[in-house]
Amino acid sequence: MDNLTKYRDDFPILQTEIYGRPLVYLDNAATTQKPQCVIDAITDYYLSTNSNVHRGLHYLSEKATAAQEGARQIAQGYLNAQSPREIIFTKGTTDSINLVAFSFGEGFVHPGDEIIISEMEHHSNFVPWQLMCERKGATLKVIPFDDNGELRMDVYAQHLSEKTRLVAVNYVSNSLGTINPVREIITKAHDAGAVVLIDGAQSVQHIPTDVQALDCEFFCFSGHKIYGPTGIGVLYGKEEWLDKLPPYQAGGEMIHQVTVEKTTFSELPFKFEAGTPNIAGIIALGQALSYVRSVGVPDIAEHENELLQYATEKMSAIDGLRIFGTAPLKTSVISFLVNGIHHYDMGTLLDKMGVAVRTGHHCTQPVMDHYHIEGTVRASLALYNNTHDIDTLVDGIIKVKQITGQ
Ligand code: PLP
Repeated sequence: MDNLTKYRDDFPILQTEIYGRPLVYLDNAATTQKPQCVIDAITDYYLSTNSNVHRGLHYLSEKATAAQEGARQIAQGYLNAQSPREIIFTKGTTDSINLVAFSFGEGFVHPGDEIIISEMEHHSNFVPWQLMCERKGATLKVIPFDDNGELRMDVYAQHLSEKTRLVAVNYVSNSLGTINPVREIITKAHDAGAVVLIDGAQSVQHIPTDVQALDCEFFCFSGHKIYGPTGIGVLYGKEEWLDKLPPYQAGGEMIHQVTVEKTTFSELPFKFEAGTPNIAGIIALGQALSYVRSVGVPDIAEHENELLQYATEKMSAIDGLRIFGTAPLKTSVISFLVNGIHHYDMGTLLDKMGVAVRTGHHCTQPVMDHYHIEGTVRASLALYNNTHDIDTLVDGIIKVKQITGQ
């Protein structure tokens, strides 16, 4: 079960001590730690390459441009996109979704149209659609989930109609861990004539991704949740759709020609990349994706699934502990509460034992509303976690129960 243990050494921060105890980092759904090769990629860029891209003829500018475009090809390969033109670098998942909500909304949504999302979306895949629907006079329809945390596909089928323009759902829920049936969701949306955006923020690091096999129009993820830096992410879009969408932000890099009267825009992907990009971040993201591929996503998935089973069994045996999100198809997330113990108290006391977990609503307030709770404690796994981490968490929960007399 601990067969990926050798990779722990790649992550220097895991050697940290917290309050005199070895760090047990179980907040990976919020952000993952970075391997040395990603840290080195950022440093090396500023030591040996720093220059603006696409604008200079000089050596460093060409080197920076080549490194950035190399990272685009790595991202293309990682997602199995058809072309690097389909890979747009953004600030992250939130930025990617806002781009599509704005551009698709401007170009293709009219009063009376409908957008479908789900009750288990991260606020990033909720609020941009609410705002867009308000702006365009469209209606937002929401697929509910059952108490296990599985989407009500019967209600989804009822929501779909000739009025549906776009369906936006997460592949994996960040607060429940549910792996959603995205293939089926995409096929049904296409049958209704709608396009689909998949929020892959919690799937790309755990499940092999093939956007051509999925056949979604848009797919997005954040670099920092897949062992890369913060402030960088990817929006994949089918070329035919990216070609049709109006630009989101305007400025340098995204223009073909500007005259006083009129501007024409760059070709893809630059039409959607206004301004100087996060060059170091892009290069380091490429490094992170290469790292994950070298470990192997199927091996990571197998390892994390074994750990998830192990943790679920041990935690379920704790008296008074309830797990939220018990779908048969889950990955890497265990949200829980213990009777009589506020999630903040649990999180704070675990922290004092060196265990980092997340507490609160996890930017999914509608999920919390579903269960009539304020928040949960969330432990989330990555490739470097092991059974010792889970044992420390479980011992910690039992200790918190003793301390609080529950
Ligand atoms: N979507 C999901 C499913 C997430 O888990 C998150 C972050 O937790 C986001 C979107 C937003 O990602 P970011 O803050 O990196 O833009």
